[in-house]
Amino acid sequence: MEETLSIIKPDAVRAGNTGRIIAHLEDAGFEVQAIRRLRLSQAQAEAFYAVHRERPFFADLVAFMTSGPAVAIALARENAVTHLRDTMGATDSTQAAPGTIRNLYGSNIQNNAIHGSDSPENAAIERTFFFAGCDLVG
Ligand code: GDP
Repeated sequence: MEETLSIIKPDAVRAGNTGRIIAHLEDAGFEVQAIRRLRLSQAQAEAFYAVHRERPFFADLVAFMTSGPAVAIALARENAVTHLRDTMGATDSTQAAPGTIRNLYGSNIQNNAIHGSDSPENAAIERTFFFAGCDLVG
């Protein structure tokens, strides 16, 4: 089983879609290994998205990710990283394929409901960002 990391972003939590997105992930074959609701601080959001530091949208992205509670979820299934990306849909919610989480629950390129790690290597880093080893129940 491969492991990955997802975040239900503040727009989707605010809209009351946390439960529907978790159900969507379970229906897509993911096992929820750990789950945590939290509000990212400015420093935490900047650290999590450090790779985008030089992008013009970085400040907006950090403001969005700190705008309210989010839900971090450690997930497992076969081919988890790729399968989560497929289940999420395209970054821009308006371009996301019908039935994907971003199509169903996102609004635009920034407020797109969900994060998913883009590689197994980043999944390992991002899981450690939110969860201690003792929290991860396989
Ligand atoms: P992801 O892997 O599909 O989440 O996409 P990226 O890693 O490229 O971007 C990270 C996050 O930054 C996205 O999920 C969006 O929330 C946000 N984002 C990406 N591109 C843009 C953009 O052009 N403008 C704004 N405002 N936000 C963006």
